[in-house]
Amino acid sequence: MQVKPNILLIYTGGTIGMMKDFETGALKAFNFSKLLNKIPELKQLDCTIETISFEKPIDSSNMNPEKWVQIATIIEENYSLFDGFVVLHGSDTMSYSASALSFMLENLNKPVIFTGSQLPIGDLRTDAKENLITAIQIASLKIKNKPVITEVCLYFEYKLYRGNRTTKINAEHFKAFSSPNFPELVESGVHLKVNSDILFSKNNLKKLKVHKNLEDNVVIVKMFPGINNTVLSAIIAIPNLKGVVLETYGSGNAPTEDWLIQILKKAIKNGLHIINVTQCSGGSVTMGQYETSTQLKKIGVISGKDITTEAAITKLMYLLGQNVSSSVFKTIFETSLRGEMQ
Ligand code: ASP
Repeated sequence: MQVKPNILLIYTGGTIGMMKDFETGALKAFNFSKLLNKIPELKQLDCTIETISFEKPIDSSNMNPEKWVQIATIIEENYSLFDGFVVLHGSDTMSYSASALSFMLENLNKPVIFTGSQLPIGDLRTDAKENLITAIQIASLKIKNKPVITEVCLYFEYKLYRGNRTTKINAEHFKAFSSPNFPELVESGVHLKVNSDILFSKNNLKKLKVHKNLEDNVVIVKMFPGINNTVLSAIIAIPNLKGVVLETYGSGNAPTEDWLIQILKKAIKNGLHIINVTQCSGGSVTMGQYETSTQLKKIGVISGKDITTEAAITKLMYLLGQNVSSSVFKTIFETSLRGEMQ
């Protein structure tokens, strides 16, 4: 007889569990036990579900590394007791959280699926039920008693994506996320269509390692025509700054002006890690393809290749937290650790 999968639902907050504040009319997170009562359909699922909630559920705009550690710790403490984990999270920063957790959970061998919704679960036209029910079903999928999904994913509007490949693209549409540089892992229609060939790791037998040290002295800088010496110098001079994600144009291009190259060159010499990611929604950085990126390559800027900004900043926080030595930092950053880049 096959034992029913056991799923842990981790409620952090987000629209999915929000209600209108009577006085202000603004949406606010509310108690999770009330939320579950709103989905009696969950009882029909072929799995057992237990729940755990943040003591104070949050709007995900208040998410931070400390709370990522809280989620990681819940998973760590319950890892042997459950077959899969579904994290209910606001959509605003869900891609950052899914990316961060993908790096924090090394040797993951069970599904961790982030989901949420654009409309609260109590709303008549809510997208919460489909997202939650299918996320739980996918987390329960097994073949020969082994989980089908063994990575950190994000499920929204009929698609399961690799979490660290996603980005939030719309504040209103039910299709709020996209994964511009990597296909979806599962598509939900009449059947669940699993794209098995591209799943991250299968049968990883190493023990789960949870990394909780994240460096937050980092910054994202977006290039724009007109960025000047004073502004960039001030950012680079931030005391104790350890790393910069530089969102450049197209395939990794930036102005060739001497002041810019000199600032970056000096910063790299002083031990700052500078990651080049594209501000385009899809495609890859290829330094050296244009004259406007040749200098960046020469001075030791790290290529983010086709990584998202969300994955780049969290990978930077993670690797800096690991005290990776400067001599290998560039090589390690340019290597795919959890399927986050090509
Ligand atoms: N502001 C909400 C949050 O991210 C939006 C959502 O849940 O979709 O928590």
